[in-house]
Formats: sequence, C-alpha cells, structure tokens
Amino acid sequence: RDANEYRGLVEDCCCEYETVDHLNEEVLHPLLQDLVKTPFFRYFKVKLWCDCPFWPDDGMCRLRDCSVCECPENEFPESFKHPSNPILPSDDLMCQEGKPEAAVDRTLDRNAFRGWSETDNPWTNDDETDNAEMTYVNLQLNPERYTGYTGPSARRIWDAVYAENCPKYPSEELCQEERILYKLISGLHSSISVHIAADFLLDETKNEWGQNLTLLHDRVLRYPDRVRNLYFTFLFVLRAVTKAADYLEQASYDTGNPNEDLKAHSLMRQLLYNTKLQAACPIPFDEAKLWKGQNGPELKQKIQNQFRNISAIMDCVGCEKCRLWGKLQVLGLGTALKILFSVDGQENLLHTLQLQRNEVIALMNLLNRLSESVKLVQETGQSAEKMGLTS
Ligand code: FAD
Repeated sequence: RDANEYRGLVEDCCCEYETVDHLNEEVLHPLLQDLVKTPFFRYFKVKLWCDCPFWPDDGMCRLRDCSVCECPENEFPESFKHPSNPILPSDDLMCQEGKPEAAVDRTLDRNAFRGWSETDNPWTNDDETDNAEMTYVNLQLNPERYTGYTGPSARRIWDAVYAENCPKYPSEELCQEERILYKLISGLHSSISVHIAADFLLDETKNEWGQNLTLLHDRVLRYPDRVRNLYFTFLFVLRAVTKAADYLEQASYDTGNPNEDLKAHSLMRQLLYNTKLQAACPIPFDEAKLWKGQNGPELKQKIQNQFRNISAIMDCVGCEKCRLWGKLQVLGLGTALKILFSVDGQENLLHTLQLQRNEVIALMNLLNRLSESVKLVQETGQSAEKMGLTS
C-alpha cells in the first residue's frame, strides 16, 4: 500500500487512516476475533437455497438443488453428488456446491439459537422469521475464502449490484447519499476479494491453502478507491455499532452456556465503551449530515429500495458458501443502515430500535470481516510494496 495514498481523513468520515489502522490493530481486531468465536455469534440462521427472482430463463437456480446439502439424496442431480463428474461444465457452473471448498458445513449447537425480536428489517429482502426454509450454520466452520466461484455467473451478480442499483458515479454527479451506497457495496466487494486472496487454494492436488498476494494486488491494492471504500465501509459499520451501544449492551446473549455467554457480553461491553476508541475516533461516520435536503425522505426511500434489490440479488449467488457470506454481510450492512437511518435521534434509539438476533450476529460478523480485511490490506499492502508488486 502506498503510504502517501492513505493519509488524512477517510473520505466522508471523521477519522484518519492511521488512527483506524492503529485502533483496529490494538483494540477492534483482537476483541472481534474473540467475539465471533462465542456461541452466540458463531451460529447464523439463513435461507440458503437460491430462490433467484432474476434471470428466470437461463436455468440458473431453477432447481432447489442449488443447495445440494439441503435436498434429500434422491432429489438432486447425479452430477452434484460427484464433484469431479465430467458432466458439469467446467468454468461456468451455475451451482458450485459440487466443489468441496464451496460447500457449507452445517454442524450446529442447537442450544445456541433461541428467540429475540422478529421485527422485519426494511432495508433487506428476506423474511427473517423462523420457518422451515431456514437452516443454521456454524460460521467458524465456514470461513469466507476462495471457493472457485468465478466466470459469467459471478460477474453477472456484481454487474447487477453495481449497474442496476448503484451505477458507478462519475465523480460529482451523484449526491453524497447515493455515493454512499456505491461505496458500501464497493467496500464489501473489496473485503470479499481480500478474503479470497488471504485464504486461497494454492495447490489443488496437495490441497494447500495460503495467501495469494498477486491476486490481492490485482483486485484490491492496485485500486486506491477500492481500498478507500473498504475503510469507509468499516467506519460506517463501526459507527452503527457504537451508536447502538446502549441497546447492544442491554441485549441478551443467552445461549444456555453461562460462561461463554458472559464472555460474549463482556467482549461486547469492552468494544462498545472502549475508551481508546472514544478518544481517538468518537464518531467514525456522521450520519446526521445525510437525508437533510428537501428531497431527503424521497431519497432515503429510493436508496432503501435499491438496497433491498441488492439483498434480493444475493439469492442468485451460485455458490453456497459465497451466498452464505453474501447474505450475512448484506444483512449486516442492512442492519447498520437500519440503526443509522430508521430511527430518529440518539435519544430514542434505546426505546425504538428493535433488532433481531440474526441482525446482531450479521452486524458483528460483518464488522469482524471488515476489520480482518483492513488489517490484511495494511500488512500485506506493505509487504506487497516491498516485493515490488505495487506500481
Ligand atoms: P470480480 O471480483 O468478479 O469483479 C467484477 C468487476 O467489478 C471487476 O472487473 C471490476 O470492474 C469491479 N470491481 C471489482 N472490485 C471492485 C470494488 N472493490 N469496487 C468497485 N468495483 C469493483 N468467490 C470466492 O472465491 N469466495 C467467496 O466467498 C465469494 N463470495 C462472493 C460473494 C458474492 C456476493 C459474489 C457476487 C461473488 C463472490 N465470489 C466469491 C466471487 C468473487 O467475488 C469474484 O466474482 C470472482 O472471484 C471473479 O473475480 P473477478 O476477477 O472476475 O472480478
């Protein structure tokens, strides 16, 4: 990473790059790493088969077999049972579940998931209420990493997310509010790319995994705006978490495992009321500046609809593990948007905010993913520089 490129304030935010790096390394990253391992935060409820509402004609996800593991044996095509079956087209797999690295492990501690509010999130598409379509996933067993999902199917998803919902902004033409949606998506995209590069299948025959610095450079470090958007998204989500501090502090992290639940609560408290964070970066992003003008409410509604569309597109991601993390992180962003924009004023937050358990899990896991990406970009960016990979 070119140090001069990332000096001063993160664009549209209230903290400097160096401060973010420092706080992340010293405070946020260690706390989040421990937090996401606790039972409360490691199980996520998700509808994993792809009910893709778009592209109905091309056969993609027409069958529920897209989520192979959820179907009874006799329901899914023979080809999916044998990953190396030559019937599968090689580089444009609609469903990638035949690949071991794309498959989701659903090992579950049933005690870990109970109750909480079930208020719908206006920013996302899924109906989160418990129903037979939901499955429960242990996120610790399903790290976000390289899965082999690539080609036209993956490209089409990103194109749809950008082109249909938040067209790339020719610098000043879009107002600040619309740029923010673009930056959130781009920041998330950067983070996903960083995780692919950080945990890559280097040698398929030896099943050897490790960092792929060239890929990190080619997809993220080479583009300063992608790095900037990653930092922006991190601060945006961090602001949502700290804004909801009192609500999150009073929430129940009960999973029937008193020691682990106390630990989750204590880690949350350390993060929410962290004195170093409050001193160095008290308001990571100032949402009060948005939706102010005459068109404010209209614009907010428009962006809310756009974000819901993005959330619906996640059902079309043709790789189960990518869909899992895509859905989780979009729900996390939707939860951040809900905290920042669906309740008026800080004072009312404690009384009017209602979060589902799954939203809190998504929010904190997203923050952890972004924190990991920021750390990796900072560290490996420096070593990529040393290796002469940056131009
Ligand atoms: P892509 O990453 O597909 O990018 C497409 C185009 O978008 C680029 O050519 C560029 O013009 C633009 N672009 C790229 N990055 C940015 C950015 N940060 N900001 C703005 N524009 C950008 N693959 C895995 O191996 N593991 C996963 O867990 C995984 N999760 C995924 C989750 C989702 C929701 C989606 C849609 C895809 C996922 N993929 C995953 C696939 C992965 O993101 C890539 O699409 C794939 O690796 C092919 O990469 P690519 O080089 O063609 O560029």
